[in-house]
Amino acid sequence: NAKARGRNCYQFFNQEIQIEAERTAKIHFHLKKAIHQGELQLYYQPIVEPKSGKIVKAEALLRWRYNDEFIPPDEFIPIAEQSGLIVEIGAWVRKQAVITAIELQQKNITMPISINVSTLEFWSSELQHNFIQFFDDILQELDIDVFPYKLITLEITESLLMKQKNEVNELLSMLRKRGIRISIDDFGTGYSSLSYLVNFPVDQVKIDKSFIQQLETDKRHKALIEAIVSISKALDLNVIAEGVETEAQLAFINQQNIPFVQGYYFYRPMPKNEFISLLSDS
Ligand code: C2E
Ligand code: MG
Ligand code: MG
Ligand code: MG
Repeated sequence: NAKARGRNCYQFFNQEIQIEAERTAKIHFHLKKAIHQGELQLYYQPIVEPKSGKIVKAEALLRWRYNDEFIPPDEFIPIAEQSGLIVEIGAWVRKQAVITAIELQQKNITMPISINVSTLEFWSSELQHNFIQFFDDILQELDIDVFPYKLITLEITESLLMKQKNEVNELLSMLRKRGIRISIDDFGTGYSSLSYLVNFPVDQVKIDKSFIQQLETDKRHKALIEAIVSISKALDLNVIAEGVETEAQLAFINQQNIPFVQGYYFYRPMPKNEFISLLSDS
């Protein structure tokens, strides 16, 4: 009867929640040890000029291999954020990215690297107002005197721009004074407000891959991309199209004169040594 079915449904629902909670707890437990056990790796995905195919920059993307299983960042980053582990993980990521940029420079390869920074990291007591100091410390530790900060781009998301706007503005300005570039990631998703582009000191906008991937099937996504491109150009911001996989998507990107493209059509994220040899060979 209906009552029994209802109870079954409820049980099933409860079970699902429990399975998910157990997975979250398990991931949290193992993630705590992942850095020290060398399970984290930073991959690099080239960003190209679509017309020439030339690699002009790259995004650093975190990979976690646990027991032969790659746990996707979309699964473990939110858990790292909720638990605060992201602060330590983020510090590790930034250090690795700076090391890679320096290594490349020593090979005479100038390659700007983008790093994802969670909103939560900006508000950790360790980093608040100390972001610059953080980079300086890494350089000191590596015994590097001069480092062109313009090689580092921080990818932030719109959620950072929603609260404590004056403080965020000050922080971003300070970073940019040093030469660090600021990019808004996944633009157009979440709580987008076009006013962010005017009110915050940013250099670059990344069009979210969900728009690119739907542009062939839904005209409205084309319109949205056109609008983002046009306002970005008017405000003198760089534009990157993320998640380009097909010829048709690329054709539209070129038609829109979008200057930078990141996607499987050109390259997938790859381990550091592969990335370095790719750059050394070309
Ligand atoms: P994101 O910053 O928007 O990174 C772009 C994502 O799109 C990456 O997924 C990349 O592998 C994927 N991608 C690039 N081109 C294509 C394509 O042509 N097709 C498809 N289907 N996907 C493409 P990934 O590496 O799984 O990372 C997912 C998200 O996890 C990132 O999205 C970012 O929000 C977060 N993340 C990754 N690494 C870090 C990190 O070091 N720190 C923080 N805070 N977040 C990170
Ligand atoms: Mg990103
Ligand atoms: Mg993105
Ligand atoms: Mg994304």
